[in-house]
Amino acid sequence: MQADKFNKTMALQKASVDAGIERASHEQSVVVLLTGDGKGKTTSGFGMIFRALGYGQKVAVVQFIKGTQASGEELLLRDCYPEIPLVQMGTGFTWDTQNFAADQAAAHRTWLAADDMLKDPTLDVLLLDELTYMLAYKFLDEAVVLNALRQRSPQLSVIVTGRGGGTALRELADTVSEVKNLKHAYDTGIKARLGVDY
Ligand code: ATP
Ligand code: MG
Repeated sequence: MQADKFNKTMALQKASVDAGIERASHEQSVVVLLTGDGKGKTTSGFGMIFRALGYGQKVAVVQFIKGTQASGEELLLRDCYPEIPLVQMGTGFTWDTQNFAADQAAAHRTWLAADDMLKDPTLDVLLLDELTYMLAYKFLDEAVVLNALRQRSPQLSVIVTGRGGGTALRELADTVSEVKNLKHAYDTGIKARLGVDY
């Protein structure tokens, strides 16, 4: 691109960005939904947790599905930030356990912790990892969950991850990103990789 054309393009872009910033002047916490069938939802959620930590904000994490395999982000939190609340459902994947009643009870127990955190006036960012499956499997009541999100402590931003989750959750969320699967190494027989997949 020629220098003058580049400068013109940048000037236009700056005007558009400035106008956008001017419009987005309303200060409030947000609900972010990271959904879709591609890889990157949970790690993105943890990325925001670490982003908030960088500013000394108060964060917490609740994970609604947990296999027996620990993840790097879990280890980092436990090792370096033992004071940060990290609650895991801890029943393993549903297709391993195949026990609806036990899974539902575990979901309820875990939800109680999440519900308390949603009311916590000192928290800034809360990650509800894989919450969408609790709604999809009807382990949790959608109205109860959505109400708790709406009624959350005013300064608290919430990140929800997981495929699906329903249209009501999408509508409630302020930011919704869909991670689309274009390809995944797993499909060609490549094993889940430490540091990348878990
Ligand atoms: P990540 O934890 O890597 O951010 P994710 O939260 O988007 O991934 P999940 O559906 O929660 O994805 O699945 C977690 C695990 O499954 C990860 O090891 C991830 O690499 C793998 N995975 C995610 N998407 C796919 C896919 N489309 N095909 C195969 N494996 C996948
Ligand atoms: Mg995930």
